Amino acid sequence: LRSRALRASILKPFLQSQGLNVLPNLILTHGDADHVGGFEVVANYFAPKQIVTSVVPFRSPFYRKAMEAAPRRSIPVVQLAAGERVSDWTVLYPTAEDNLPQADDKALVLATTLKGTRVLLLGDLGPLGQKALVERRAGCSCRHRGESIPSQGEPLTEPLLEKIHPREIIVVDATYPVSARVRPPLRERLARRGVPVFFHERSGGDHD
Ligand SMILES: [Zn+2]
Repeated sequence: LRSRALRASILKPFLQSQGLNVLPNLILTHGDADHVGGFEVVANYFAPKQIVTSVVPFRSPFYRKAMEAAPRRSIPVVQLAAGERVSDWTVLYPTAEDNLPQADDKALVLATTLKGTRVLLLGDLGPLGQKALVERRAGCSCRHRGESIPSQGEPLTEPLLEKIHPREIIVVDATYPVSARVRPPLRERLARRGVPVFFHERSGGDHD
């Protein structure tokens, strides 16, 4: 918790220097602790105007705590399904029917265009979620894709990569939990695609 507060204390002046004092939207992609565990700290520091989350429920106690805290803080919660929009981002996945058992398989997937570059944000999307996305989406040529590592199964499976043909890949790596580390076979497999792959390391210690 200390490191989390510390990180927020570094992040806040940086975002303020970029002209961002209030977060219009705080997006909770899914219920895993390493994605919603910092909710209180972020809510304290950045006073989000709205919480955006998916239409499917998550059992994680961290997620439930965040959902209970939002009305106490008078922050509205908006639940979005595929096809709906938040700010400049469109939700691609999931729908209310994608209520899979693993939290990673129903992580919110968002797409936008930033200065002419199509960006797809996959979060921790697990293999079953990726499969659903492949089956439904028409081919979309994405320059950047950001993905962190699901706790079970491979991120960025080959059928998904074949479908979206990314021209750059950004992988969020974590030193903790161990399940979120990028494994060497993934690095090798992505390297074989011949497109730039960036590993953005997210340090651990915030899962207490
Ligand atoms: Zn996750």
